[in-house]
Amino acid sequence: AAVTRIGPSPTGFVHLGNLYNAIIAERLAHQSNGVFYLRIEDTDNKREVEGAVDTLINAMAYFGVKFDEGATADGDNGSYGPYRQRQRKDIYHVFAKWLVENGLAYPCFMTAEEIDAIREEQTANKEDPGIYGKYAKCRDLSLDEIKAAIDAGKPWVLRYKGEMNDEKITVEDAIRGKIEMPRNFMDFVLLKSDGIPTYHFAHVVDDHLMRSTHVIRGEEWISSLPMHVELFSKLGWKQPIYCHTATLMKIEPDEEDPSKLKKRKLSKRKDPELALAYYQQEGISRDVVWEFLLTVLNSNYEEWRLANPDTPYTEFPYTINKMSISGALVDMDKLRDIAKDTIGRMAPEKVYENWLSWCEEYNEEFASLLKQYKDRTLAALAVGKSGKNPRKDIENWKQACDFMSFYYEETFKLEDNMDEQAAPDVQKEFFAKYLESYDHNDDSSAWFEKVKNITTELGFAAKPKDYKKNPDDYKGSIVHITNMLRIALTGRANAPDIHEVSHVLGEDIVRARLAKWAK
Ligand code: GLU
Repeated sequence: AAVTRIGPSPTGFVHLGNLYNAIIAERLAHQSNGVFYLRIEDTDNKREVEGAVDTLINAMAYFGVKFDEGATADGDNGSYGPYRQRQRKDIYHVFAKWLVENGLAYPCFMTAEEIDAIREEQTANKEDPGIYGKYAKCRDLSLDEIKAAIDAGKPWVLRYKGEMNDEKITVEDAIRGKIEMPRNFMDFVLLKSDGIPTYHFAHVVDDHLMRSTHVIRGEEWISSLPMHVELFSKLGWKQPIYCHTATLMKIEPDEEDPSKLKKRKLSKRKDPELALAYYQQEGISRDVVWEFLLTVLNSNYEEWRLANPDTPYTEFPYTINKMSISGALVDMDKLRDIAKDTIGRMAPEKVYENWLSWCEEYNEEFASLLKQYKDRTLAALAVGKSGKNPRKDIENWKQACDFMSFYYEETFKLEDNMDEQAAPDVQKEFFAKYLESYDHNDDSSAWFEKVKNITTELGFAAKPKDYKKNPDDYKGSIVHITNMLRIALTGRANAPDIHEVSHVLGEDIVRARLAKWAK
């Protein structure tokens, strides 16, 4: 059984990558009857924003990520807490003291200016490992010197005492396979001057004490592996299995040569789709986002989906070694296709529920329409017996409010031009005749017979191809007749089957909408 977690930092910005890693971690744990938990990595005071933990917890809940243990909105759930790193200070200090006692860590009194100077030098000479030695300035201070500095109130951090060596480490990454790197030789920081641990130290202590078997995190952490491996080994703890996930990327035309495509990292500033909030605001269904991320993260998901169109995604046999390591592509066109496909496959009741719950948060007016006209909405979502399933055209709940707006008097509006179908006097004549012969109880073939008869009576061609021979004739073909009906009933020339729509709307609305054109 795998024990996995996500360890997001509460910065106020919940990242698509947080969900991406959560899905992998959740799958690994639950497919093996293991435990999946949430740890809040709030060691960075400067980046923390008020309410960020709640934002994070809410976003995860919105997307249906279920934790077995860990931090919740009302405190801790589980026996390996606290699950917020800021509350674990004393725990880190126990191990920090042990490292000091064993000669593996020491206080460092270098000033911010000194550190900045080394950093600058380091940026200028990236390849020179000798520079790292400069961080070790305080490693040989005597106990008396240390005492004096502390008594004088000098701020200090706790550094790990790295060992100069030419050794290599190898880590078997579950996604990438063998990773070989130089063994750690650096004197890196374990505790910051406020006593709060760095990510490196906190990660090792927490993932050990909380029994993580797998650490799923972004590939940006690969470069820190030597520090983590070193700490696990010196503390005598078993290292978890690392799974470094690919960075989310996007392909777009190269700025310099637009005929070429370029891959680049998604950026907070340029790409709204990097924020989970974007998917919430646009009403991109949770199921769609999962299907999308599963497609991005597992190369055989699409094949599985085609073979198992009706199986819930939670039953997909996820395998971590089918993951891309060269960058996970976030393609919004693909997301739209997945949305149409996913919502197209959803039962009307489920579409209704999801749409309504989104509207309750983001479009209250529409939510009340959906509640007031529940039966009509369900019927509207179920049309498509003789035409296209309208659910296949829903990309997100925001767009659904526009797309389905003609079913409600409150939001119905004319969107296409009736005059493109026939001259106004012909329109009038047509609608008068149509209403005269209209019987709401006609079945679809009886109804269509009547439409055809009127078409001929009015001198329109019965078949669309006849009109093509004589395109200048304003009295077009039956296509223009049906378009007129669609426009009158739905405001649009492109709409579902007229007979079905009429039955969803009900006789009163049909007559009222058509009567306007017969006058
Ligand atoms: N707090 C880290 C981050 O936000 C988590 C990395 C990890 O999961 O270990 O990237």
